[in-house]
Amino acid sequence: MFGLLRKWRRERVLKGAAIPDALWHEACATLPFLDLYDAGEIDRLRALVVLFLDAKAIVGARGHEVTPLQRVIIAIQACVLILELDLAWYDDFENVIVYPDEFVPGWEYEDEAGVVHRQEGPLAGEAMPHGPVALSWPDVAASGDWDTAGMNLVIHEFAHKLDMRGGDANGCPPLPPGLSLRTWTTRLDAAYAHFRARVQLGRHTHIDPYAAESPAEFFAVLAEVFFADPLCFRREYRGLYELYVQFFRQDPAARVAARAGSERAPPARG
Ligand SMILES: [Zn+2]
Repeated sequence: MFGLLRKWRRERVLKGAAIPDALWHEACATLPFLDLYDAGEIDRLRALVVLFLDAKAIVGARGHEVTPLQRVIIAIQACVLILELDLAWYDDFENVIVYPDEFVPGWEYEDEAGVVHRQEGPLAGEAMPHGPVALSWPDVAASGDWDTAGMNLVIHEFAHKLDMRGGDANGCPPLPPGLSLRTWTTRLDAAYAHFRARVQLGRHTHIDPYAAESPAEFFAVLAEVFFADPLCFRREYRGLYELYVQFFRQDPAARVAARAGSERAPPARG
């Protein structure tokens, strides 16, 4: 019964809130990593984006006015993470807050020793446990094209949201059946320790050194690399890459490699 009701609601939203073609194509054109996907997947992504935008409010703060294009660009990147999962992963929040620039959040937290910490410096983005995602629009706009930015703010923050569904952000989201916590933490911890050592030695890394901050940041930065530069992730930490494939139920590196191979192949004689 609930299944039918949900299906009916979904159909109704998809019919009533469709995204105009011109707006959709304009948003996709700012996100070159979408080249990974075939036409059928892009159609599914578009339906997911419609449902996401129906369920969430994307609101401006401090005078920022969110345009329809900005809403779609943010929603597409949030939905890429759950293209093969389920919108229910984002059930624990309703709002995405968009700032006109970097922002200083007002929160404080108390650590285990009872010391109260305050976030001092400005942030480009923040994901709050069971709460909203906050984004600085100029940083979203600058990070859609991986080749120029080497980062993707929206994927990063929504990866934290997935992680937080398992409790505190610690690099371990709830795992699908067949993927054990032990396997996940063993590979993530090993890759994290290796990466951190490289950063501490001052070595150049293709992966953003910010990933060495904590296992949670490592997970989120690698989620960006997984979608936007998957061959790099697979080359650097293949064992962990394979677990991301199981988790996200996508294999972007195989896609990119297959496409590169077919581009190199000699033209068929006919
Ligand atoms: Zn982060």
